[in-house]
Amino acid sequence: MNFDLTPEQDQLRDAVRALGRRYGHGYFVEKAKAGEHTTELWHEAGRLGYLGVNIPTEYGGGGGGITELALVCEELAAAGCPLLLLVVSPAIAATVIARHGTDEQRKRHLPGLADGSQKIVFAITEPEAGSNFHRLGTVARRDGDDWLLSGRKCYISGVDEANQVLVVARTEDSATGKLKPALFIVPTDAPGLTRSKLDMEILSPENQFLLYLDDVRLPAEALVGESLDAGLPALFAGLNPERITVAAMGAGTGRYAIERASEYTATRKVWGGRSIGSHQGVAHPLAHAAVQVELARLMIHKAATLYDAGRDLEAGISGNMAKYAAGEAAALAVDTAVQALGGAGMTTEYGVATLLGAVRAGRIAPVSREMILNFVAQHVLGQDKSY
Ligand SMILES: Cc1cc2nc3c(=O)[nH]c(=O)nc-3n(C[C@H](O)[C@H](O)[C@H](O)COP(=O)(O)OP(=O)(O)OC[C@H]3O[C@@H](n4cnc5c(N)ncnc54)[C@H](O)[C@@H]3O)c2cc1C
Repeated sequence: MNFDLTPEQDQLRDAVRALGRRYGHGYFVEKAKAGEHTTELWHEAGRLGYLGVNIPTEYGGGGGGITELALVCEELAAAGCPLLLLVVSPAIAATVIARHGTDEQRKRHLPGLADGSQKIVFAITEPEAGSNFHRLGTVARRDGDDWLLSGRKCYISGVDEANQVLVVARTEDSATGKLKPALFIVPTDAPGLTRSKLDMEILSPENQFLLYLDDVRLPAEALVGESLDAGLPALFAGLNPERITVAAMGAGTGRYAIERASEYTATRKVWGGRSIGSHQGVAHPLAHAAVQVELARLMIHKAATLYDAGRDLEAGISGNMAKYAAGEAAALAVDTAVQALGGAGMTTEYGVATLLGAVRAGRIAPVSREMILNFVAQHVLGQDKSY
């Protein structure tokens, strides 16, 4: 058992931390409030190779794994810059294409994903299906060599800043009623694809959208993989990296919030010469949150290690547990930090309440805490499926 990072991973962590701190939470908030994106940070991270750490070297990436990408997600978040699109473009889209795309798709998309010049977002959620993706209603029909896609997607992040969206559809002739998913790389400007922005109560430079697909015509090569059989494994290939990186982002956010609060409570004095942090009523909740964040980090490390070792099934269990733990820990840490800062906690200046919406959403998306508990009850505890 080894809890140490390799020297290369250590270097990567320090370098990403330095980059994140150079931008900082003030930059993140300013962009979000102006309705802009964190484009400068994204491109700089891309140029420095941080967005492509998990992409094979032959396509311009760093040749690392999800462990390295999780470090990038965590350290940027720990600097106050939790970039949701890291979870979508390098974690989901790049993994799916690297592992299940055709040679042509790898050559076409991976170099741009690696240097950050291209973003591919991910669309699975639908208004009717919700958490039950066996009910997906977005249908792909063949029309000669082409495909026609129709359906609706919701809460899709980053469509306005992406070149393509990886759409999860189902093939029309799946008579069994079982999910036969098919993934398509759809240009965001494809005729028939329209979007409307959702108003979300999250302070974020990234936006969520409703997507309408109305007979979107795609060439045969838009289908991910060599055949329809690639669909299910391709979909599952993206889920573990998604859970692990979103967990890492949550852990980083938790660290950030606890650090902000600890700095404050160690110096703030309102009762004589004692800091408010010397009162256990203030310090213990922060210490408790720090324990929860650290526990989540351990599980993230385990999940990423298992995933990178190719142990997908075990990584699925650990990845779900890591996502659950980090989602809860991040929400606890930010809420605790706000409380410890008192009135300052609710100001923009102190930069913790600005994260309340994001960490709250982290208990719902990309998979809710209830669905993870269902998964653990069924697959770890051997309980009958309850739904
Ligand atoms: C900020 C944000 C960004 C997002 N980005 C994306 C994106 O880029 N791409 C994408 O495809 N999706 C995205 N989503 C969607 C997200 O993945 C879904 O919101 C999430 O999976 C939950 O689905 P739902 O909202 O339809 O909830 P529902 O399925 O309607 O569930 C509602 C509530 O009921 C609970 N519930 C449902 N079924 C059960 C059950 N069987 N047992 C116990 N509890 C249950 C759920 O846990 C939840 O609390 C995003 C969402 C948010 C908030």
